[in-house]
Amino acid sequence: MIVVMSAHCTQEEVEAVQRHLSDRGLQGHLNPGVERSVIGVLGEIYPELQDELEFMSGVSDVFRVSKPYKLASREFVGHSTQVEIGKDKVVIGAGEFVVFAGPCAVESETQVLATARAVSAAGAKVMRGGAFKPRTSPYSFRGMGEDGLKLLASARDETGLAIITEVMSPQDMDLVSRYADVLQIGARNMQNFSLLDEAGRADKPVMVKRGQSATYEDWLLAAEYVMAGGNERVILCERGIRTFETFTRNTMDLNAIPAIHRLSHLPVVADPSHGTGRWYLVTPMARAAAAVGADGLIIEVHPNPDEAKSDGAQSLTFENFSLLMDQVRAIRESVGGGVAV
Ligand code: PEP
Ligand code: MN
Repeated sequence: MIVVMSAHCTQEEVEAVQRHLSDRGLQGHLNPGVERSVIGVLGEIYPELQDELEFMSGVSDVFRVSKPYKLASREFVGHSTQVEIGKDKVVIGAGEFVVFAGPCAVESETQVLATARAVSAAGAKVMRGGAFKPRTSPYSFRGMGEDGLKLLASARDETGLAIITEVMSPQDMDLVSRYADVLQIGARNMQNFSLLDEAGRADKPVMVKRGQSATYEDWLLAAEYVMAGGNERVILCERGIRTFETFTRNTMDLNAIPAIHRLSHLPVVADPSHGTGRWYLVTPMARAAAAVGADGLIIEVHPNPDEAKSDGAQSLTFENFSLLMDQVRAIRESVGGGVAV
């Protein structure tokens, strides 16, 4: 439920509404707008509540949010949200486009530093690299753990790039948060509710990747978990879904980008690396994602893809990444930033 306060309401009137809610075991989430303040009601809503609130002074309108997710919904915020990343406050969302790039997994100091320099020179603002890797087989390379996080931190020190890295379990949240500028929740963990709760308590932005078989609603409810836990700095990532097609690793759902922009105010990034699984499909799908209004891209890049310990087949060389950046820049210039929602 959303309570729209009237344009000239007083602070006391806003507080009275919030008190009314908290006395009934509900949470009032204030969104102070430029023109009007809006209060989102969270919790179990009972039938008489709408009438009770409508008659309170300072209240202009009360309506029910039709979606099961509230904080993540566009209805609730009304405009596109920007999220700030890292100490340089790189901004993503509402027209600001950010590229995250780097290897699938951190493998060595030389690999991380060489990649950081190359992606930074090409225009990426955030370096990706997994130190804790979710692998389908327990026998595959599962990441360097804290040593990998330290290598990412030294790449940040040298290049100024912010760092995104995956956190796989609630127990690792504190450790990973000490190094990361953005916490990545992987597709396989999108419905790990204790991990989402923990991410809600973290003091870093969170990228929620779409689960392999998640609907838009499942995905936005995962974002809602993080937001309801108190962390509203959420970025969504479309990384392809499982379909009957086996030629590509996943099917990149480009519908998701404008559709999520319609449903939610959160920034949406596209991951054509996992979305396709084949390096030669990454640039065309990155171009497409930019054209449909993605707020950013996350791209796997490796100094020598043939020797990568994970996801080499979908990793770009430095040269191909730089070409991708030029092409994406041209697409963004030609389509413009404004996309109707
Ligand atoms: C990754 O980004 O390396 C990764 C494992 O992605 P996903 O969770 O989307 O499979
Ligand atoms: Mn990968």
